[in-house]
Amino acid sequence: MTPQKDIDIAIVGGGIAGLTLAIALHHRGVPFTLYEQAPAFGEIGAGVSFTPSAVQAMKCCHDGIYAAFEKVCTRNEWESKQKLWFDYHDGYNTPPGHSFPISNSLGQRGVHRAEFLDQLVNLIPQHVARFNKVLTSISDAANGKLVMEFLDGTTAEADAIIGCDGIKSRVRQELFPTSNPSYSHKYAYRGLIPMNKAIEAVGNENAQNACMYMGPGGHVLTFPVKSGTVMNVVAFHTSEEEWEDSERNVRTATRADALHDFAGYGEDVNKILQLMDDKLNVWAIFDLYDNPVPSFYQGRVCISGDAAHATSPHHGAGAGFCIEDSAILAALLSHESVNSPADIELAFAVFDECRRERGQWLVESSRFIGDCYEWRAEGVGSDFSKIENEINARNSIISDVDVVEMCQQAKGTLSRKCSSLTREISANM
Ligand SMILES: Cc1cc2nc3c(=O)[nH]c(=O)nc-3n(C[C@H](O)[C@H](O)[C@H](O)COP(=O)(O)OP(=O)(O)OC[C@H]3O[C@@H](n4cnc5c(N)ncnc54)[C@H](O)[C@@H]3O)c2cc1C
Repeated sequence: MTPQKDIDIAIVGGGIAGLTLAIALHHRGVPFTLYEQAPAFGEIGAGVSFTPSAVQAMKCCHDGIYAAFEKVCTRNEWESKQKLWFDYHDGYNTPPGHSFPISNSLGQRGVHRAEFLDQLVNLIPQHVARFNKVLTSISDAANGKLVMEFLDGTTAEADAIIGCDGIKSRVRQELFPTSNPSYSHKYAYRGLIPMNKAIEAVGNENAQNACMYMGPGGHVLTFPVKSGTVMNVVAFHTSEEEWEDSERNVRTATRADALHDFAGYGEDVNKILQLMDDKLNVWAIFDLYDNPVPSFYQGRVCISGDAAHATSPHHGAGAGFCIEDSAILAALLSHESVNSPADIELAFAVFDECRRERGQWLVESSRFIGDCYEWRAEGVGSDFSKIENEINARNSIISDVDVVEMCQQAKGTLSRKCSSLTREISANM
């Protein structure tokens, strides 16, 4: 759509948060430029699943995002499991103890990240993106604009900046230098297993439908991706040791390391790990639990997605919350009263008001639920009925929301703030 406002917004970062925001703004006629450090849009080839609220948020941003999701998502294979989020199993004891299903209105919908992103990129024109732009600093220009400096020595100006630059956000560091991510003491082996091999190992039901295998100090989740041809595996392990290099959250390991971490686990977990590649990547799980930001904005600079509320992945909702952020930001920035840099600052204040509590709750709750899966949460332990209750109660906070209503409420709050500001200005004249 042709830009309809005389404002100039910079989005820094083109992951799920940045791209969904870009698409939502583009289709509402809000002018922006997206600066991405990589030479092209891209994502790692792992799976990500989405909750019902994430799907609502996709539709709020732009129907094309939802269409892209529908095009590439994989569901549970079995008809009887279409509303299943995960089957939670005892992954430790032999024979396995109790299992329970957790369902929601959407069931399990996983995408291969790279495939999803490839679809999203088609929803914005190429000319809005600048690549190889590593943001290094933000400062004020004499003309009232903000100036971004990039590693390649170039600069660019904007009326406002939205940092969608992920967990290690440079934009967040500029605003709140002490709000750094910390290690959750969990790390994850990730892998993709051809579905025929996965079926041989754990049978049709568990390979083709989402499963979570729980045990003391570890949990393994699996779900089908790539139209059911591949089983995505993420095997989490809790370790008291520090992560040796906080600058690099991925290190290489071997299948033998994974098997060592899950020694004593049941047959299914063992068979799954045996099918992982010999050389594996291990991802340290960092989040903003210890050092939450005091605000999602300062002046005309705002943070969204993982930059604002990076969470451990145990609710499978981090990316979904990025898209919720984009839906709210797009609703606010396209509001009829947002026409100047000062109006954008007001919109950012409303964004902070509407999103911070929910975003930071996710970070806290995700840590707790991750410990529930590993039988180490205080007051829950390995009591399966308590674990089930905790999952249901917390999933409901994530999913049983009305994102359209959230956007309406945000716009209502902005309208009220604009009117009271106008009244204040007239009273002072
Ligand atoms: C193991 C694991 C499993 C997960 N599973 C799920 C799941 O099932 N469901 C779910 O909803 N979420 C899941 N998540 C969380 C989800 O992946 C994140 O919440 C989401 O991808 C964050 O998106 P983002 O756009 O905010 O950040 P990112 O994806 O990190 O994107 C940031 C972008 O900014 C760019 N950038 C960074 N710094 C700069 C700079 N200085 N200048 C310019 N550009 C810059 C980067 O190159 C990148 O393109 C999982 C996370 C992990 C670690």
